[in-house]
Amino acid sequence: MEVTEVRIKLMGNEDDRLQAFCSITFDGEFVVRDLKIIDGQRGPFIAMPSRKLTTKCVGCTAKNEVRARFCNGCGRRLPEDRSNSDGRSRLFADIAHPINGACRQKIETAVLKALAEERIRASQPDYVCTYDDFDEVCTNRSG
Ligand SMILES: [Zn+2]
Repeated sequence: MEVTEVRIKLMGNEDDRLQAFCSITFDGEFVVRDLKIIDGQRGPFIAMPSRKLTTKCVGCTAKNEVRARFCNGCGRRLPEDRSNSDGRSRLFADIAHPINGACRQKIETAVLKALAEERIRASQPDYVCTYDDFDEVCTNRSG
């Protein structure tokens, strides 16, 4: 399986840890959106699309965010030891992700290469972002 296309949406603030959103296409046939490129302490890394984990209230079975202190459904105080306070992995679960290091490496290589190329393109006056954003229209970053 090969990454045949990467679309990047650069974030405006270079100081922000969130450098860009991107989508990747596999073999010209399957697209995964909402990947994030994050500037980590050991260099940029790719965060897979994820959702917030929830836990069920023992009183009313309503689903609550892991960090919620009170139940959305019945208002009872929720136990505080439902997750490690330090673990992002306990708060979010990846929706789509590589299952081995070789695939992760393949994706990272393709995305980081595309990020570098996008930054060069973004410095051109006629730059147009190609990331299909359903939330907002990409603006031309000229100037
Ligand atoms: Zn409840």
